Amino acid sequence: MDFLRPAGWEEALAAKAEHPTAVPIAGGTDVMVEINSDRRRPEYLMDLNRVGDLLEWEVGEDSVRLGASVPYTRIMENLRAELPGLALASHTVASPQIRNRGGVGGNLGTASPAGDAHPVLLAAGAEVEVESVRGKRLIPIDAFYTGVKRNALEPDELIRAVRVKKADGPQQFSKVGTRNAMVIAVCAFGLALHPGSRTVRTGIGSAAPTPIRATAAEEFLNAALDEGGFWDNGKIITPAVAKQFAVLCSAACDPIDDVRGTAGYRRHAVGVLARRTLTWTWESYRGARHTTEGAA
Ligand SMILES: Cc1cc2nc3c(=O)[nH]c(=O)nc-3n(C[C@H](O)[C@H](O)[C@H](O)COP(=O)(O)OP(=O)(O)OC[C@H]3O[C@@H](n4cnc5c(N)ncnc54)[C@H](O)[C@@H]3O)c2cc1C
Repeated sequence: MDFLRPAGWEEALAAKAEHPTAVPIAGGTDVMVEINSDRRRPEYLMDLNRVGDLLEWEVGEDSVRLGASVPYTRIMENLRAELPGLALASHTVASPQIRNRGGVGGNLGTASPAGDAHPVLLAAGAEVEVESVRGKRLIPIDAFYTGVKRNALEPDELIRAVRVKKADGPQQFSKVGTRNAMVIAVCAFGLALHPGSRTVRTGIGSAAPTPIRATAAEEFLNAALDEGGFWDNGKIITPAVAKQFAVLCSAACDPIDDVRGTAGYRRHAVGVLARRTLTWTWESYRGARHTTEGAA
């Protein structure tokens, strides 16, 4: 196995163009597991750790450009206000050691349906910035996951960053595992309220071949919130609406039975997480409204 060590981004792109089968390694918390267990034996391994740009983030007026290799720990420490959903999801990834190494670029590269970043990136409506020597493109997160552990990257492309809009409302992430920490999700759910556009977006993990959104559930809830004037009156969401939202989120799943859980359990649990995260985010939204009104 040959080891490529580009000193910068342009050099990394040139190396990937020359060796499209080269496997990039960032934190190595997925790649090294595969190599150590002999599930992968790439001809070239391309170390991205000397590419400093990938470890940086920029907070713009409306969005955050998060370098692909920024570790989860940095997201938790520095971007909690801007990206609350992603910060919550980062907290649930593995252990402090893994969170100090692993990042969102690696999660996207692996594209496991169980990766914790995916539900919140879907709910936030993120874009993946990818580049090759041929140029740069932005892939909407909804189009990024193409199959089980497959993504929309071309062989000569690398992930440069993820662009995520700064939260304009409450966001939540919740995960079911077989224990409380160091656990791959049995299923997971991300929810983001977008009061600016008066919409709600979802993300479901580990309950379908790819991470998915529950679009019918979103459409139902968006219509119910609109018709009831909920965004303006800030009323409690009725149990019937929350229940139907949960039913539609469960129905969006296409899970399998595996060692971590049955398909039936996953469907059920996604519904529970959907109802809970809706209650939590809506209560935050109502609380923020009261605070704003009280201050006025
Ligand atoms: C003990 C343990 C527990 C874990 N628990 C969790 C968990 O709870 N939740 C969870 O989501 N994950 C978990 N993981 C998996 C892993 O930590 C995450 O997927 C992490 O985000 C991977 O990031 P990384 O930087 O280490 O990726 P790497 O291992 O370096 O790379 C992962 C994949 O992405 C590709 N890649 C990396 N960077 C780029 C780039 N810039 N452009 C293109 N491709 C790129 C690599 O080629 C590879 O295919 C766990 C892993 C271990 C070992």
